[in-house]
Amino acid sequence: MIDATTLSALTAAVLAGPATTNSTEVGPGSVFFALVGARDGHDFLDDAVRAGAGAVVVSKPYTPPVDGVEVISVPDTLEALQAAGGAVRQHYDVDALAVTGSVGKTTTKNLLTHLLAASRPVLSSPKSFNNHLGVPLTLLSLDASYTDLVAEIGTNHPGEIAALVRLVRPRAALVTNVGFAHLGNFGSREALADEKVSLFTGVAPDGVWFVNADDPILLDAVGRLDRPATTRVVTFGTAADADVRVSDVAVTESATTGVVHVGGESLPFTFPLVGRHFGGTVASAVAIAVERGIPAADAVALLATFPGSEGRASVSTIRDGAMRLIDDSYNGSPDSMLAALDTLSTFPEDRRIAVLGEMRELGDWTEAMHTTVGTKAGSSATDLVFIGPSEPVVRRAATAAGLPDDRIHAAASAPEAAALVEALLAADPGATSAVLVKGSRFVHTERVPLVLDGTP
Ligand code: ATP
Ligand code: MG
Repeated sequence: MIDATTLSALTAAVLAGPATTNSTEVGPGSVFFALVGARDGHDFLDDAVRAGAGAVVVSKPYTPPVDGVEVISVPDTLEALQAAGGAVRQHYDVDALAVTGSVGKTTTKNLLTHLLAASRPVLSSPKSFNNHLGVPLTLLSLDASYTDLVAEIGTNHPGEIAALVRLVRPRAALVTNVGFAHLGNFGSREALADEKVSLFTGVAPDGVWFVNADDPILLDAVGRLDRPATTRVVTFGTAADADVRVSDVAVTESATTGVVHVGGESLPFTFPLVGRHFGGTVASAVAIAVERGIPAADAVALLATFPGSEGRASVSTIRDGAMRLIDDSYNGSPDSMLAALDTLSTFPEDRRIAVLGEMRELGDWTEAMHTTVGTKAGSSATDLVFIGPSEPVVRRAATAAGLPDDRIHAAASAPEAAALVEALLAADPGATSAVLVKGSRFVHTERVPLVLDGTP
């Protein structure tokens, strides 16, 4: 534990200058936290001081080579980073929202930030800064210029979300869904759901819980929580009784369209990522924007200008229009695989090629989940290229679902997968083609679109 005197010195330091754990990011007046991980941050203290650090946070004895550098000694520098993030958050009066869920956290966070940023200064977690380091680092970059905060929170292990949400102190929180991601570490989907909804235990008692109305496991877990009488629940999704409902969700050539029903209005929308599952994402972001006082029509109009992010359901037409490429290579959890294959199945192209990579972090569920994905691939794609050791499992499931065995190809690497796709395209040059690329980061499927697109 950090004592009160040290915490107030630490708080004063991080309110005065930018904080970092990376000595190469240190500038004049920065606060450098010497974390102990695969590498020991204490080895970089002199570098940080030379780069102008105003204070260093250490858990080992340290004497700076120059005068005027504050040395803050703590028992544990990671704990200090988290305490400092929490203290900065407490110092600034922002309207905070926390997002978690199995899939779609970053997409939702970025979309919501897009909707809010048109009318107010919002601090949003960078990238997927959602863990024990990313959450405090996000909070440490708060300053008086922001009125709103959107924080992504993730979990690999039980208990993580509850600890992180306490730092964020949200007035509202959103759980996108409970799927299968990281199931290996939780044992059952119910346990996973309980972990996700622990996010709500950190919400202010007069706050709002945003809940996916299409996810029965999530709804059950919310029902198991003690909810303060002053807390409101707002549901979103396609369910008939959702507070903010989407209907008529359809996938077009390069967008998802539908109608959002909110506060008595029915507003048609266009959202520039492809996938029916984005109906829920749209509904949740609109629900939160409206709750923050943004007119529904303004929020819905802004959906069309969402910039998206590379590797997440972005669609491009390449090769002079001969091929549609769905680059969803960023992440490969079972949930997002099934959603992406569902999208592919709606495409009108003669050939629908799925390039999929091994799914990780599934523990005992590995075979079952590869079977589920293989079955879906077998009914959605006309050709399947799989990279990874579960290829025989996927092949068996896909053939059982009706995909001929000679339409299924094993690739040892991402470049080999790209070469296989080339061969498929060359074999039937007259056919129109759509190629979906998807896999976990470990398999590097993100290289496949680069090769197909001709990027060196
Ligand atoms: P991470 O845990 O890696 O931070 P995340 O929860 O932030 O992931 P995103 O990065 O938004 O999730 O999306 C990951 C993948 O899931 C992408 O392929 C995206 O297209 C897909 N996806 C997004 N939302 C959904 C959804 N509601 N249902 C299914 N798949 C989704
Ligand atoms: Mg993320």
